Amino acid sequence: MTTDRRTFIAGLVTMPLLGSLAGCAASPSRSVRASVLPSQALGDRIRVITGAPGNVVALNAGDGVLLVDGGSPELAPSVRASLAGARVRTLFNTHYHADQTGGNALFGKDGAAIHAHEITRQWLATDYYVPADDRWVKAQPAPALPTATFRQKGETKVGAESIEYGWLIEAHTRGDIYVYFRDSNVLAVGDVASPERDPVHDWYTGGWLGGRVDALDDLLALANENTKIVPAYGPVMSRAQLQVERDMMQKLYDRTTLLTTQGRSAQDMLEAGVLKEVDREFKDPYRFLYDVCKGHWAHYTNFGGNIV
Ligand SMILES: [Zn+2]
Repeated sequence: MTTDRRTFIAGLVTMPLLGSLAGCAASPSRSVRASVLPSQALGDRIRVITGAPGNVVALNAGDGVLLVDGGSPELAPSVRASLAGARVRTLFNTHYHADQTGGNALFGKDGAAIHAHEITRQWLATDYYVPADDRWVKAQPAPALPTATFRQKGETKVGAESIEYGWLIEAHTRGDIYVYFRDSNVLAVGDVASPERDPVHDWYTGGWLGGRVDALDDLLALANENTKIVPAYGPVMSRAQLQVERDMMQKLYDRTTLLTTQGRSAQDMLEAGVLKEVDREFKDPYRFLYDVCKGHWAHYTNFGGNIV
């Protein structure tokens, strides 16, 4: 395994900020310096580009590149600058969030086919409300929309690599997917695994803790002891590390669903020390529990809840 930590400035490009993501419809163009980002090799033909601001998985297929996630709008030019001139022919979106889909317009205009779950396309194609920020996000322009969508799972062959992909129902959003590079044994999982940052449940779009546990079970079934698991943020994980995260989430699920059926709030759960029962440092414990509770209320029939 080698690590490339070059950070020199590779060039200056001009990129229009996506007005919708900047919160207004007509943001002026802004010069952005595109740097070559650090990357880590995961075998002969796959590497993970870091700091985009999350992770981007790049498969070198000989006549072009396949990416899983393309970085934020601001950093997508740096992702492109990190590909040594290779053209992106295929881009997978693990979910609709801007730090994963911010490169869609850039790579889509370059001719990349954009693959995503159908629900991810729907979120990107429509105006939607973000309750945490009390703001609306505008629909993305046509070149930024996925061009090839699916609902359950699929597979393809790119160069010598067999690739499988599939839906991780309601784990972080309602449109999460994994992308599994079977020959290289690399599994990209987006924000469904979160080894460093607090796990986020985008409850307004259907993500919840029960869905996360189910999705982590699905990922554990795909992986073996040699699988390199790439989360949206943080270091590459082993299957054993993913198992630890899954068990921790199951424990929190059991405790928080019980308290939810008793009508307890996120603040109640925090004061009851729910998060102290697991070996994890939460940066914003209340925020995490607030989103967990919102997700539980939205899915109370899933756990037989008779919420008081
Ligand atoms: Zn996300």
